[in-house]
Amino acid sequence: MNNWLKKDLKYIWHPYTQMKDCESTPPILIERAKGMKLYDNKGNIFFDTISSWWCNVHGHNHHKIKSAIKKQLNSLDHIMFAGFTHKPAILLAEKLISITPRCLNKIFFSDNGSTAVETALKISFQYWQNIRKYEKKKFISLDYGYHGDTIGAMSVSGVDLFNEIFSSLFFSSFKVPSPYCYRCPVGKKRDACEIDCIQPLEELLREKKQEIAAIVIEPLLLAAGGMIVYPKEYLEKVAILAKKHDVHLIIDEIATGFGRTGKMFAIEYVNIQPDFLCLSKGITSGTLPLAVTLTTDEVYNTFYDDYNKKKMFYHGHTYTANPLSCAAALASLEIFEEEKTIDKIKNLIPVFHKGMEKFRSLPSIGDVRYIGMVGAIELVKDKKTKIPFTFEERIGMKVYKEGLKNGLILRPLGNIIYLYLPLCIKKNEMSAVIEKTFNIIVHLNYLKN
Ligand SMILES: *Cc1c(COP(=O)(O)O)cnc(C)c1O
Repeated sequence: MNNWLKKDLKYIWHPYTQMKDCESTPPILIERAKGMKLYDNKGNIFFDTISSWWCNVHGHNHHKIKSAIKKQLNSLDHIMFAGFTHKPAILLAEKLISITPRCLNKIFFSDNGSTAVETALKISFQYWQNIRKYEKKKFISLDYGYHGDTIGAMSVSGVDLFNEIFSSLFFSSFKVPSPYCYRCPVGKKRDACEIDCIQPLEELLREKKQEIAAIVIEPLLLAAGGMIVYPKEYLEKVAILAKKHDVHLIIDEIATGFGRTGKMFAIEYVNIQPDFLCLSKGITSGTLPLAVTLTTDEVYNTFYDDYNKKKMFYHGHTYTANPLSCAAALASLEIFEEEKTIDKIKNLIPVFHKGMEKFRSLPSIGDVRYIGMVGAIELVKDKKTKIPFTFEERIGMKVYKEGLKNGLILRPLGNIIYLYLPLCIKKNEMSAVIEKTFNIIVHLNYLKN
């Protein structure tokens, strides 16, 4: 182990990492990155197949974003966002409002996905207090949903291996089954699907709507829950039910936003008008931390009053609307227009999906699913019974290590191996990534032992 890594392990505690594993598999020291390639200190090249935890969009080291940040740094680095404002935030707010559903007219800035969700939860909660519907205090979410790692965001996420230990800290919320088609909660086959899995939500709302503030949901892709792609009809029904029962709809586009699903936002696949929209991850194309929570005038107006501490929104973060981040986000949105990114990926997506289909016939592949630039395979021990590999078998970890040897980052979600491709990927890079991944999975039988 070289000196840098020795020092790393001496001083640093990495996220989502069993640090003891690092003794045998130390973190990889990346020195530079360009496009979708990462270069380490030993001369190895890795394809950034998961877009640096789903946030890179236009590729690393994009000259336009770089120069926007530099330019911003020459005039204003950061100021507090209470009592002061700045042009990058104003321009970004205007731009985001122009490209999101027309009902969303107000923006609250923060600095990461979890805070964007917490902001939505708190505003929704206080909204019902503002309008004197005091009982509406609870949230509904999906059992495979993921909305962040802070206590509030965890409270509305699915309870799993990772957050179970904290569950006694969570505020109580209602969970409904997820539209997880491969393991259909009502035992149906895909072609017989009539979205019956919505029923528990329907019943819950009918019985408890007086207590419910909002439903929180990721649109079309339950990302951290296992890259579960679900039918748009489910989302449409959720939106209709929310309206019907006078409950807010909080759409968490933190993972899906900014082109990842083939449209700028996943909600463009449906015609819905949410009360809240949370954005982060891809917003600065993976350069600087930033998040926003969009909401409606209707919600905003219930807080708008003569000075009255009960109606103000007492919430904020030190780095709210950081000007450098806002400048990076603006540059990223300009790239979408100049490079016609969404049009460009329209040609790549069918090639990608065709490549993903090749996995379906392999012995350990239970399910293949994809949307836009996201593709996943679910590994199972037995295709017929769909029995999963156990935690102790660490099959995902074995694939991950094999991936690294082949210059791929196949960081698994349990037994799910996925590709979360940056939108800048070239056709030949995509073919190489799919072929390499395929070869690893074909040889999985050897890895199992
Ligand atoms: C990653 C993620 C979050 C949390 O974002 P952080 O920036 O990691 O706090 C919330 N919601 C979804 C859907 C995410 O994928």
